[in-house]
Amino acid sequence: MNYQHSDVSGALIDLPVGKVVCVGRNYADHAKELGNEVPKSPILFLKPATSLVALGETLDYPKQHGSCHFETEIAVLLKEDLTDASAAEVEQAIWGFALALDLTLRDVQNALKAKGHPWERAKAFDGSCPITSFVPKADLPNALKRAQYALLVDDEPRQTGDTDKMLFAILPLIAQMSSVFTLKAGDIILTGTPAGVGPLESGKKLDLLLEQFAWSTQTR
Ligand code: ZN
Repeated sequence: MNYQHSDVSGALIDLPVGKVVCVGRNYADHAKELGNEVPKSPILFLKPATSLVALGETLDYPKQHGSCHFETEIAVLLKEDLTDASAAEVEQAIWGFALALDLTLRDVQNALKAKGHPWERAKAFDGSCPITSFVPKADLPNALKRAQYALLVDDEPRQTGDTDKMLFAILPLIAQMSSVFTLKAGDIILTGTPAGVGPLESGKKLDLLLEQFAWSTQTR
């Protein structure tokens, strides 16, 4: 694994690569589509640094373990450490925003959930977090209030999200995460997926759109 953070101009970002802290069910419509209850406090889980892979021209995904779902999510890159942080401290610590796919082996996850086992086999495998380049915070001034994003598969909209529909908004969400796990400069936060998740299929074009920014890849 040789992932490094990069910005939309292609330049490397001088921050270490750390863990990925994720939230499950942060949009009511997605909780509903999987038949899950809307949580009262955020459901947190981790992906290791080895899950990260830069979204390039082609996208590999596992095909040996049943369906591998895409979950399109806003990713936040931190440039400062945070422990028990306030929302204002979180805002100061944000480098910028990207889109990530929280790849999920859905059949494996359902089997693990049924047994009450942890989800890592379904969500934390190598390459389970393809991620776009990062947009500096200053270039997305409204992202914390209202940023719209989408995933198109072969030009058809499959997921559309809006940060103002999150159950736990970005700043209080990260503040709460920092009370559980110390967040380090270079860590990435995934903020949850809206409805429309589905299985990846080979030979499809994926377009990821975040406000005026766009990235494209082809599944292998
Ligand atoms: Zn997710």
